[in-house]
Amino acid sequence: MPYTYDDQNVFARILRGEIPNKTVRETDHTLAFEDIEPKAPVHVLVIPKGAYISYDHFAAEASDAEIVDFNRTVAEICRSTGVALDAGGGGFRAITNAGKDGVQEVPHFHLHILGGRPMGPMLLTR
Ligand code: AMP
Repeated sequence: MPYTYDDQNVFARILRGEIPNKTVRETDHTLAFEDIEPKAPVHVLVIPKGAYISYDHFAAEASDAEIVDFNRTVAEICRSTGVALDAGGGGFRAITNAGKDGVQEVPHFHLHILGGRPMGPMLLTR
């Protein structure tokens, strides 16, 4: 089944400037901003500007330039928020949810970068 992007999702609206956000970093292809309901002292969302629904969609169809830019932005956010190991930070957890089973709320690909405290077990079992 082809990916069908909903251009009314909240991150599409942020990208169009219809909803405010607390931008941490913006590049030609990528936007990073604070999560509105932070689950940790550091909780930044990194999104591509292109219309991709999920990580696999992005990884399959984005251009090399978009993919490189996205990943370099992730590295930059880890450094600038102080969680990166090479910045002496305590590390972080990067999460991306996809679809129903992944319990994705916003259908625009985003990577959560969480840190600033121990994140606990990876998943609840069951
Ligand atoms: P997910 O369940 O992976 O789709 O996560 C969606 C995330 O988007 C949640 O952590 C929300 O708190 C966050 N979120 C929803 N609306 C906004 C918004 N307007 N600005 C920033 N973060 C948001």
